Amino acid sequence: MSDSPVSRGEFLRSFGKSMTGMALNAGVVVAAQTLAKRFAAATPPPSDQLMVKKTEAPLAADPFIYSGPTEGNRIALTFDDGPTPGVTDRILDELKQRQLHATFFMIGKNVVAQPDLARRVLAEGHEIGNHTFTHPKLNTLPEAQAVAEVEKAQQTFTDVLNYHAKWFRPPCGALRKNQSGILHDKNLGIVFWSVDPGDWAQPGEAHITDFILSQTKPGSIILCHDLYPQTAHCVGLILDGLLQRGFNLVTLSTLLPQAVGHSATSSMP
Ligand SMILES: [Zn+2]
Repeated sequence: MSDSPVSRGEFLRSFGKSMTGMALNAGVVVAAQTLAKRFAAATPPPSDQLMVKKTEAPLAADPFIYSGPTEGNRIALTFDDGPTPGVTDRILDELKQRQLHATFFMIGKNVVAQPDLARRVLAEGHEIGNHTFTHPKLNTLPEAQAVAEVEKAQQTFTDVLNYHAKWFRPPCGALRKNQSGILHDKNLGIVFWSVDPGDWAQPGEAHITDFILSQTKPGSIILCHDLYPQTAHCVGLILDGLLQRGFNLVTLSTLLPQAVGHSATSSMP
């Protein structure tokens, strides 16, 4: 190892890639992470320090999912905060025209307000994820309130849509890793993203489109919002650009290993 000019960053990147798409045994993950930590800690480490010691406390696997396996050029396009009349339906039209499917992380109270639009999302073969009932930052809430936000949204999907969501995305990405048990107890995988064009801030259709087309890689999970017309106006161009680049757009349940709590890979900084 000492005569190999592999930088810490290169090692960690290749380590991340090697994990991609694997439903790894938790023990293997812990051992590999411990190895990576040891590699990063000393320059260059004596070879005996690379051995995993049985007495060392194991590192917890990252409970959040940021992207998926790279096989098959698959990617997932996701839309948060809807359903929104005049926006979600426009996005659905563009997806339908190309026979593509996406995942919509819906806010429970918006489903109550727009039940027919939410039903259309399901009827056209898309997936729905849980994005809480009122969109609070969960990391600011006591655990009981955070649990109630998640449960109320799940119950709304059951009551209004006869649907059970498998995936959860925290509003604003605001979730402490030690809150992950709240979601895993309900068998919800916690999905963040690896490509964020910032469309919620309405930076312009050209920026949204160019960012997504330049940053998307096999396995990417793309974060968009069916909240403002600007996103809907450029979604056709985005879809055509992704198709031209050979990507296979799928729902999260098609992209990701089903086991909740497995981190597919960690590509987010
Ligand atoms: Zn949101």
